Amino acid sequence: MQLPGISLLWLSCIISVAQAANKIEVDLRTLTSEAYAGRGSGHADINKSARYIYSRFVETGIDVYYQSFRFRHGFGKLAYGHNVVATLPCNVTPCSAALVISAHYDHLGSKGTRYYPGANDNASGVVVMIDIARQLMTQVRHREIIFVATDAEEKGLYGAHFFAATLDPERVALNINLDMLAVNSRNRLYVLASKQASAYTKDIAQAFNKEIRAQVFTSTTRMSRRLDTPRVDWLRASDHYAFHKVGIPFTYFGVGTDPLHHTYKDQFDKVDIPKLTQVSAHINAFISALSVSAAP
Ligand SMILES: [Zn+2]
Repeated sequence: MQLPGISLLWLSCIISVAQAANKIEVDLRTLTSEAYAGRGSGHADINKSARYIYSRFVETGIDVYYQSFRFRHGFGKLAYGHNVVATLPCNVTPCSAALVISAHYDHLGSKGTRYYPGANDNASGVVVMIDIARQLMTQVRHREIIFVATDAEEKGLYGAHFFAATLDPERVALNINLDMLAVNSRNRLYVLASKQASAYTKDIAQAFNKEIRAQVFTSTTRMSRRLDTPRVDWLRASDHYAFHKVGIPFTYFGVGTDPLHHTYKDQFDKVDIPKLTQVSAHINAFISALSVSAAP
């Protein structure tokens, strides 16, 4: 059967969106399943979650490695963590400063016979990060793009601090931190951008459409006021703080508050997969716009 060119284009578009949604769904279902036991951190062995993320990057064709580290936690007890780091090189000269996309994969582990699935927090960020890696793989990139799935965020941002200390801040333009992306009925993401990243706020708004909006803040106080979270310091609430501490500008994407946060009910079936797929496409549009042309 012959189809006009435009229909084929339309069809391939529909198919690629459906494929992305399918992979996002598979990754989210896997990482939140009982076998992954709530992705607790601290053990010397590289855990199942890290291995899964590693294998996903390998399938995508991206160079990937484990970055293991030690930290002291809970009355000085020695613990271990394992970041998963994947790098897409700049593929068209001139090459501008790198982008670092981060999402923590660890969660609260299990208690007795129950485990914390951590679907929104933060399997959602990890699966979107992997999806973005897949999309950027085939694009023109005037920047190196580094993906880091961090460990031991819940215990105190340990993985991000360790990773950030290995970077040369002069060679990184921006950290894009993804933590809790499961958009609810509000259809809105909240973005905190450091003052040094305020130049990007217009690009962020442009990358989102009317169905899902991104509201950008450059002040944690204003963000807290808007979200009615007076006790949350959004600057220190997730891994972007580690990048900020070493002088790297950051933008942090999340849904703000979630009534299921850190409960057993933060489960796979509470996540709207089509919306999460849309979120991924929007954040990718933002990142693509930054990497498609050479800029400072
Ligand atoms: Zn989190």
